[in-house]
Amino acid sequence: MKGFSEKLIAPCGMNCRICIGFFGYTMNGKKRKIKCIGCKPRDKSCAFLKKFCKKLTKKEIEYCYECIDFPCIHLEKLDQSYQKRFKMSMIDNLRMIKKQGMGAFLKEQEKKYKCPECGEIICVHNGKCYSCDTLIKD
Ligand code: SF4
Ligand code: SF4
Ligand SMILES: [Zn+2]
Repeated sequence: MKGFSEKLIAPCGMNCRICIGFFGYTMNGKKRKIKCIGCKPRDKSCAFLKKFCKKLTKKEIEYCYECIDFPCIHLEKLDQSYQKRFKMSMIDNLRMIKKQGMGAFLKEQEKKYKCPECGEIICVHNGKCYSCDTLIKD
């Protein structure tokens, strides 16, 4: 599977493989000095949820859907902003992982973010394929 892997699915349900930081860029188009290697491999948060959540910092849970508070207010906020800005829901991602399993989720992600021109991966944050420069607009 083209670079899609469980290792790159963050506890919050974000797929780091399609993140602009993973491609090595910033939102304003600049190249980052250091590419992000993903939430789990980096073992530091990109932050957002870990700031608020001891269960994540202490690694008591692997994915937020295992948590009794799921979806907590912080995850909901993040989710809503992602739905609005990037048409993606980490809560939906987590529900799918829970219901259908990681394998099915990764397959769906591969289909959903596949570049129609070159078959590589489209970035969720700006709709860009960094392999062939195709820009997906909706
Ligand atoms: S910036 Fe955050 S979401 Fe993006 S790849 Fe890194 S850890 Fe994942
Ligand atoms: S859903 Fe649970 S584990 Fe995830 S950030 Fe919220 S409180 Fe933490
Ligand atoms: Zn492409």
